Amino acid sequence: MEDCNLVVGCGFSGAVIANLLASKLGEKVLVIDKKNHIAGNSFDYRDENGIMIHKYGSHIFHTNSEKVWSFLKQFTDLNTYMHKVVAVIDGIETTIPFNFNTLYNVFPRTLAQRLEEKLLKTFEYNKKVPILEFQKQDDEDLKFLANYVYEKVFLHYTTKQWGNKPEEVDGAVTARVPVYLSKDDRYFQDKYQGIPLEGYSKVVEKILTHPNIELRLNTDYKDLKGDFKRVFYTGSIDEFFNYKYGQLPYRSVNFKMETYDREYYQSNSVVNYPCNYDFTRIHEYKYYLNDKSDKTVIAKEYSESFELGKNERYYPIPKPENTALYNKYAEEAKALKNVYFLGRLGDYKYYDIDKAVLRAIELFESVFS
Ligand code: UDP
Repeated sequence: MEDCNLVVGCGFSGAVIANLLASKLGEKVLVIDKKNHIAGNSFDYRDENGIMIHKYGSHIFHTNSEKVWSFLKQFTDLNTYMHKVVAVIDGIETTIPFNFNTLYNVFPRTLAQRLEEKLLKTFEYNKKVPILEFQKQDDEDLKFLANYVYEKVFLHYTTKQWGNKPEEVDGAVTARVPVYLSKDDRYFQDKYQGIPLEGYSKVVEKILTHPNIELRLNTDYKDLKGDFKRVFYTGSIDEFFNYKYGQLPYRSVNFKMETYDREYYQSNSVVNYPCNYDFTRIHEYKYYLNDKSDKTVIAKEYSESFELGKNERYYPIPKPENTALYNKYAEEAKALKNVYFLGRLGDYKYYDIDKAVLRAIELFESVFS
């Protein structure tokens, strides 16, 4: 074992680092995961109706990074799906992020025109403005608009999702979905976006396919014996240190799946319900790869606190006290030789898939340059 690297966790982060160790350095790698499947929370599978289900909620690949794109293109083709999100606001189905189309959907034309003019005098066309910044308005009409967007789009959704109001969570969280001074209805503006044609699990499987890589599922790091050349740990960093400074908090999500005997359930892959119901959004999976079936599968997404042993970690909660706790573990980690942490849980960072891949590539480059 001493000539073998260990990668703990085989989501994108673990798979990418394992691949680089094996393919670029020709080294042996053992990859383990506690779960009975690969791909971490991006795991997907085709169900009995032929519909590709994202077990842990919708994943839409998007990136501006040439490095990430050229790495992933070795393992998959993607379709040209461009994600759009519909939200139901006061019974009206409209676009999120809130943009000029949303403005005209939810307000009478004359009011929308007045607001549009004032917006274009205040902000540059195409600018993305985080809601917490958008609220800083002097003009009465724009104040009215900012209050409307805050209340109808962000307040209740964020309270459901994080258990906190928008101003109580890190600004970067709500800034992911800014007010967008544009008519572009897409959720992401990245150069490259799409869904892998055979699904995310297949991509991870291909990334892991190398004669130097051995994969063991249903395997806990704690139960593993032996010394390894290096350890790359993508599990939660507090768990690695047996929670000696306390647990890092996470939000978890519970997906309630339902199958319907009809072709489609809703008008779009994701419909947000910022103001109604206990769930935040409904996913309808067949949209992503345009799966054909006379049935459809949806998932209602309920946010909840992460509790050890009860549910899964999904979202690190970016807050100063949590970052301070993470930093204590990161400081301990620095003192270890040949042990590296990465991934959403290892770095305690709200990475999208492309950022997780980039982090793994950059970690590899920094360790072996
Ligand atoms: N958000 C919101 N209303 C919406 C959509 C998003 O308030 O209709 C806020 C909410 O705080 C959410 C954050 O923006 O957690 C980021 O949303 P995103 O869709 O990027 O979250 P993810 O898909 O990663 O869960």
